[in-house]
Amino acid sequence: MYQQLILEHAKSPIGRITELSNEATPGSGFSHQINPTCGDEISLLVTTDSGKIADVKWSGHGCSISQASASIMSDLVTGESFESEANQSRLFHELMNSRGQGLPVADEDKLGDAVAFTGVSLFPARIKCALLGWAALKDALAKAQAKQEAN
Ligand code: ZN
Repeated sequence: MYQQLILEHAKSPIGRITELSNEATPGSGFSHQINPTCGDEISLLVTTDSGKIADVKWSGHGCSISQASASIMSDLVTGESFESEANQSRLFHELMNSRGQGLPVADEDKLGDAVAFTGVSLFPARIKCALLGWAALKDALAKAQAKQEAN
């Protein structure tokens, strides 16, 4: 069932557009991340509004896990507060460190479809694939917030 979910998201990714340029405006941030060991690449533009994530758009290519993870993440964090996203990011990193064990139910509830990657945590070489989109989001958010403070 989880495998199916990953394949579906890899086929029809949420938030992915064909081409994304660095058009960061005030309140938005751009990041480009690569995972050289697998050849995955993700560019991501996050738009923030009043302490929340208003929109996530990304482009990229690579393995099914990297693309599906960015898709599920985009769906999960859109509309969330910065605090809530930081919590989800922390939990997803914990999930990836769980060696296939998963997390307590209350924590998994906060991750929605992202729990589909529990099995990936058994394969150290693939964990980076699942984390690539999250790394791009974190970097883009930091840039968006730094820019707002400078204004
Ligand atoms: Zn990969």
